[in-house]
Amino acid sequence: MSLYRDEAVVLRTWKLGEADRIVSLLTRDHGKVRGVAKGVRRTRSKFGARLEPTSHLAIQLYEGKSDLHTITQVETINRFVGLRSDPERFARAESMLEAVEQMAQDHAPEPEVHMMLWRALATLDADGPYFVSAAFFLKLLAHDGVQPELDRCIECGTGDALVSIDVVGGGVRCGKCRRGRPLGAAALSLLRRIYSGDLAAVLREKSSEAGAEVDLLATALLESHLERRLKSTAVISQSLPG
Ligand SMILES: [Zn+2]
Repeated sequence: MSLYRDEAVVLRTWKLGEADRIVSLLTRDHGKVRGVAKGVRRTRSKFGARLEPTSHLAIQLYEGKSDLHTITQVETINRFVGLRSDPERFARAESMLEAVEQMAQDHAPEPEVHMMLWRALATLDADGPYFVSAAFFLKLLAHDGVQPELDRCIECGTGDALVSIDVVGGGVRCGKCRRGRPLGAAALSLLRRIYSGDLAAVLREKSSEAGAEVDLLATALLESHLERRLKSTAVISQSLPG
């Protein structure tokens, strides 16, 4: 049992009883942590107002006997006011929080994911390029070891005339082996640029048809991965005693 300090992004909150709130946090050094903020719904407390989804915080928690830690102090690093004032940007931020909430493991520190998340939120907050959430999903998947094959057809191996992407199969397909979602040449080139580290330049681009295609594709890749993960988690929990 101990008191500790950390940095955290608020992923989700739930009501607990009459006055309390449970807060799901992605911390830098302690992974995903569920904390309880006591009494924050009884008054219009500043403490409670700081604990909103997307907020980037310096936080102090008390680790007791249960998995639910108690939040004892909160200071705001960034509330991301810009993205909160724009429904589209806020929806994109929420989808990023949801992806992390589902993928991050409890109490397993992943400082890189924590940094990716608050940086993506800051980028979305600053000028709101529409592409941030798609790029974030692709990087999050890559962090989890999932990266689609983009250079060769996953069926026959040719590098020519790649026209579709097979989300489940995990890569592109040529005209002869075509299956999955159609993929334009411009969208394929955009994807390759994201993975080759050209992300900053990609983020500065204006919206385009190829960008919209990659945007939808990133969500499809994430959903397919989460579905597989959720299924494998279900199998694991079924095999656990009790
Ligand atoms: Zn082929």
